[in-house]
This record gives sequence, structure tokens and C-alpha cells, in this order.
Amino acid sequence: MTAKSIDGKAFAQKIVEALRVEVAKFHAQSGVKPALAVILVGEDAASQVYVRNKGKKAVEAGFESLEFRLDAAVSEQALLDKISALNNDEAVHGILVQLPLPEHIDSDKVLNHIAPEKDVDGFHPVNIGRLWSGNPVSIPCTPLGCSLILKDYFGDLSGKQAVVVGRSNIVGKPMAALLLQMNATVCIAHSKTADLPALLAQADIVVAAVGQANFIRGEWLKADAVVLDVGINRITDEDGQTKLVGDVDFISAREKVAAITPVPGGIGPMTIACLLKNTLACARKIQGL
Ligand code: NDP
Repeated sequence: MTAKSIDGKAFAQKIVEALRVEVAKFHAQSGVKPALAVILVGEDAASQVYVRNKGKKAVEAGFESLEFRLDAAVSEQALLDKISALNNDEAVHGILVQLPLPEHIDSDKVLNHIAPEKDVDGFHPVNIGRLWSGNPVSIPCTPLGCSLILKDYFGDLSGKQAVVVGRSNIVGKPMAALLLQMNATVCIAHSKTADLPALLAQADIVVAAVGQANFIRGEWLKADAVVLDVGINRITDEDGQTKLVGDVDFISAREKVAAITPVPGGIGPMTIACLLKNTLACARKIQGL
């Protein structure tokens, strides 16, 4: 049996269309558009593509999209000052600093400087605490996108065994918090995990966020598992063509499992749609709507 390929692109487009209606309503009620400010430091090629895509989708859904490009050599203090200005700007409802930042800048310090009520990425410690205590405002966008796919697929996750592979602050840990809230039984695997294939053999749900091309093999997975592949890895194939692949070996996995998200076209578009969802939620709170 070949697995169902979960169309994250189509799902994300539905979210963006629903948001367009909500944003128009917000505009009519408040007289302002919800505004998302994105700061990009340096010339990282992948980051430039992400920022461009976020801006395009924001405009498509009726948001105000503000972009600030800072030189790679910008000082940490200048970046913090820029964030302070946006924190104090009433016309701005959401602030995102595109990662990674250059090495001379302390990313944690920068993320902690964003006002929690404008933190559309959900990376501020206040928002992380709210997420784990079950009272979230902004939820990190990639895990949020994954949770929407799982909700759509299963409804409630009671009785399901979930394995999250990866424990980063931006994907693995918040993903585990969301799965727990959705009543799954959750295990977080990482590079020091002893026997990953044995864990995955038990998993009804697998979220892969490792950052290694085609790392998880189909034969490690349970036959009726649902697999969400967060990984985005650029590789060169046998014909010398560059292409994007996930952390799961799609070809072997789709012969084994019930459903899997492709790369590209799976979790990536959901991440952007969820960023816009968070921006509207922040704007509503700030405007008291
Ligand atoms: P990180 O590099 O921060 O984390 C990778 C995690 O994988 C770490 O926890 C690491 O463990 C774990 N890991 C590494 N090797 C192994 C192994 N052999 N077995 C088990 N676990 C292992 O990555 P991110 O979480 O930031 O991103 C993961 C992937 O998702 C990347 O490809 C990234 O590009 C992609 N991504 C995609 C997004 C999207 O929108 N689709 C958004 C964000 C990220 P340890 O902690 O022990 O080192």
C-alpha cells in the first residue's frame, strides 16, 4: 500500500483564505490592518527566500507587511534598538527576527527582547512558559502547523503514541508540548537516544525535525504511522540537480506508513500560514478585539 501524501500546501492555502476574511473583518472593526514586521540580518540565501515568501503570503491575506534588512555586520545593540522601536510602534502587531543570526549576535538575547505580546514566532520565554502550562498565546509556527494537520487527520490523539525526533527550542520541544496537550503519549528522541528504530517501531505519530537528509528509513516505521517531515535539506542528486528533501526517506517510508507529508509542499507552507494566524491573534489582543 502506498501512503497518503498529506498536501500541506492546499491545507495552508485554505488557512490563508480563511484568514483573508478574518483580516478584512479586523480592518473594518479597528480601522487598521494587522501588521507584521520581519527583520532580516545579512544575506543568507535561504533566509531571503523565507522572508520573501512570508511577505508575499502576508500581503495576499490582507496584512501590512514590513521588512527591515540589516547589514550582516550590524551591532547587537543596533538590532536591539530596532526591536525596541518596533515594540513601541503602535502600528506594528507582530515582530519576527529571521534566524539564524550572525555569530557575533546573541540570538537568545535578541528573541527575549521582542515584546511577548508581539512575539509571533512564540520563542519568548513567557510564551514558551504559557505553552507548557497549557495557556498559549503565540505557539511556534512549525509545531502549530503540524498540530493542525494532526487534528485534521485524527481529531483527538488520545491513546496515540508520538515520537518527536529532535529537541530544538523552535521545533522539537514545542511540538512535544502540543502533542501532550492533544492527549498523545509523547517521547522526544535526540542524538543521544540509544535505539531510535526501536522507538519509532512503536510510534503512531512521528514528527521528524533532525536536519539530516533522508535520515529516517521506511523500515524503522510502524505500518499505520502518520509521519510529519519537518526537515528541509538541500542535496545534489545523481544528475547534479539541487533539490530539497526531508529528514525521512520519502520513497521507503511511503511504502510502509499510512500518511506522510512531502518535502517540499508539506510542513513548510503550514509554517507560514501559522505565522499569519499568530500575527492576527496578536493584533486582536493588542486592539482588544
Ligand atoms: P536543530 O539542528 O536545532 O535540531 C536538530 C535536532 O536533531 C537536535 O535536537 C539533535 O539532537 C537531533 N538529532 C541530530 N542527529 C540525530 C540523530 N542521529 N538521531 C536523533 N536525533 C538527532 O534543528 P531544527 O529543529 O531547527 O530543524 C530541524 C529541521 O527542520 C532542519 O532541517 C530545518 O531546516 C527544518 N525546519 C523546517 C521548518 C519548516 O518550516 N518546515 C522550520 C524550522 C526548521 P541533539 O539535541 O542531541 O543535538
